Order: sequence, then C-alpha cells, then structure tokens
Amino acid sequence: MGTIPAIKGMNDLLPDQIHWWQKLESVARELLETFGYRELRTPLLEKTELFARSIGESTDIVEKEMYTFADLSGQLLTLRPEATASVVRAFIQHNLQADPLVRKFYTMGPMFRHERPQKGRYRQFHQIDAEVFGIDDPMLDAEIMYMLRLLLERIGLRGVVLHINSLGCPQCRAEYRVELKDFLAREALGFCPDCQRRRHTNALRVFDCKVERCRELLVEAPMLLDRICPGCAQHFAQVRQSLDQLHTSYHIDARMVRGLDYYTRTTFEVVTDQLGAQNAVGGGGRYDGLMKDLGGPDLPGIGFAMGMERLILLLQQQDVGSRRQPMLFVAALGDAARPRAFVLTQELRAEGLATEMDYGGASLKSQMRKADKLQVRFVAILGDEEMTRGALQLRDMVTKIQESVPFEQVPQVLMRKIREGA
Ligand code: AMP
Repeated sequence: MGTIPAIKGMNDLLPDQIHWWQKLESVARELLETFGYRELRTPLLEKTELFARSIGESTDIVEKEMYTFADLSGQLLTLRPEATASVVRAFIQHNLQADPLVRKFYTMGPMFRHERPQKGRYRQFHQIDAEVFGIDDPMLDAEIMYMLRLLLERIGLRGVVLHINSLGCPQCRAEYRVELKDFLAREALGFCPDCQRRRHTNALRVFDCKVERCRELLVEAPMLLDRICPGCAQHFAQVRQSLDQLHTSYHIDARMVRGLDYYTRTTFEVVTDQLGAQNAVGGGGRYDGLMKDLGGPDLPGIGFAMGMERLILLLQQQDVGSRRQPMLFVAALGDAARPRAFVLTQELRAEGLATEMDYGGASLKSQMRKADKLQVRFVAILGDEEMTRGALQLRDMVTKIQESVPFEQVPQVLMRKIREGA
C-alpha cells in the first residue's frame, strides 16, 4: 500500500524550521501586548454566510477560494480564509464593547484559501492578525503601521516597504465608481476578459489586474485618491502626518485597492521585492461599516494580517536568527558514570539549561562527534576517573579550554560562563 501524503498546499512545519515560527510568534505577542492588544481565539470553522457577507460576494476569496462544505446536518460551513470576520463576529456575539478598556484584539493561526500553490502561496497558511474597534482617530492608523515597522525590525527583517492609500468612504467611493465604470466602458475593448467582467461586478478590482495591456490603459484612469471627499482627505492627511512624526516612511500607492470589499479610508500593505510574485507580506486597513453590516453596533474598525510563511521565507533568505542549540552535551563513559550523567542532565535542564546526552552507551569518540554535530558550546566529560575525583571535565568547544569542575558546582560554573557571554 502506498503512503498518504499531506494535502497539496498544506505544509508540515518540521522541527528544523520551527524556531523561526516560535521566534516570530513570541516577538509578535510581546509587541502586541505592549501596544495594548489582547489575544482572542476563534474557531477555524464558521458559517459560510459570515464570510460571504463580510468579505464580499464578488471577491476572489468568496467566488473561488473558500473551503466550503455541508456538514452532516446540511449546514454550509467554511474554513476561515481570514480572521477579521470571525473576530468581529466574536466581538458582537459576546458583547465585548461592554468593556470600554479592551478595544484591541489579536489572534494567530491557520487560514485556508483554495489558491494555486507556489512559493509564498499555500492553501493552509498562517497569519498574525490584529483588529481594533471603536476608534476612528487617524493617529491609531499610524500607530498600527508604526507597530508593524517595529515588528519587522525586532525580527530583524530588512528591505520591506510600507504602501498606503485611502479608499474613501461609501459615499465618495460610490461617486468615483460611476466615473471609473464610464472610463472602463469607453475603453472596454482593450481590457482582458477578467477586467471586462470586473467592470460589472467589482470595478475597483481592475487595478489588481496583472495583464500588461490593462495596466497601460489604467494609467489614464481616474484615481480614487484624487476624488475622495474632504472628510476622507483630511483623515488621510492626518494619518500621514502622524507617520511622519513617528519617522515611519511610506509610499503612497493610489492603485492599491486590496482584495476585500469591506475596507474604507486607510489601507496599507507591507511589500517586499524578494519573494517573486508573492510580494505582499501583510496588509490591512479600516473597515468602518463592517461591524454594523454584520448586525453589530455601529463602531469603526481597523486591522491587519501579516502572512507568517512569507515573513519566515524572508527571514530564511536573509539568514536572520540561528537555531537554538543545546548549550551543553554530557558525554559519559562506563557503568558508574552513565547514571550520574543522566541525573546531571535532568538537573541542568531543570535549571533551564538546554542540555543533551547520549542514551545508547556509545564510545566517547562517537559521543564527541554527536556533540560536534549539535554545535554545543560545552561538553561535560564523565568517566571512571572523574567519578572517583567527584569532578568532571568541562570542555569549551570554541576556545578548546578544558577544566575540572566539581559535580555540585557545574550549574553555577555554566551559568556564570553563559552570563559572561561564553
Ligand atoms: P490578505 O488577508 O489577503 O490581505 O492577506 C494578508 C497576508 O496574508 C498577505 O500579505 C500574505 O502575506 C498572507 N497570505 C495571504 N494569502 C496567502 C496564501 N495563500 N499563502 C500564504 N500567505 C498568504
């Protein structure tokens, strides 16, 4: 019988790469909490209508990318393709607005989209997602982008650029859409079939088209950013001003429309040129009408999602952050030394020192080889002679200096060496 592989586009995260994930998760968690965000976890499955209503019926996600199926009772369910809708639903359902002190939420975990898998694009992928409700102050928009900048800096990522735009409010966007549709109608024959269809379903999405001819034609198109109403323009100006005050550089990208219908006013993307076609590392924006559309209170919202696979691909490419190695390998030889080494290993672990040993009773040479492979900084050597003397040999694998350390002093000596930067 053949083996059963995982589903295409759904990846196992194996031990040799998991340290990247753990680092990213812990840096993000700490930073988000510092900025006042509280964690919330929602189910991976939701009723299909939640996503259809929030993301928009004529978006790529809802039209062709959702994992939707009927369960045994015939109810239509969908594996979440993004987190915002679920977080908004949970906020409404649990009346979280009753606590005026908690307005910022974050969640991390897998999302599911039936896209064509390629480097940086998977069918199960992970996002760090954050949402804020009830604040329409443009300072918050800038604060979020500043926080993203700090996140990228803290994980050590270089070469990513912040793109920002304003998509206006429903009123100014509706007026603009009429103008854009007129333009598209005049030039209709030049556009690809997809854009011709978008003209009727979701005209703004033509700006996402990758076809060269369509992009050329769109150079002449009216731009939403030039048409937003005075209120939206002022909001956007204040966002930019706050970003300047925080020394956070950005690029205004008037063609960035984002793939989800619910966005209003500020939208942003974190972009890289180092991942080929999948150039967005994360993105987000305001969605001031979504909460009300989903039957909740009329509260503004803003949020973002960072793609964890893409961040990690970049970290790997840039070779940032090395694997956490055990500090010490305990090599033991002989029937008396082995149980002592075993106990010592556990004691050191209990002190918080990453320690390894050999379980099979191999030769000293083979144990030293293993220590070398593990790239430990120190090896503790215990044989019959050391047992008689009550002191082991501690070898620094970098300086090659070896010293005798009494058993009971091993933890203190190691801790001191680590503190001193050994
Ligand atoms: P979106 O929710 O589409 O704005 O996506 C936010 C971020 O999630 C993107 O910038 C990507 O980094 C990541 N992302 C979206 N779709 C995928 C996918 N299929 N595979 C991997 N990462 C993705």
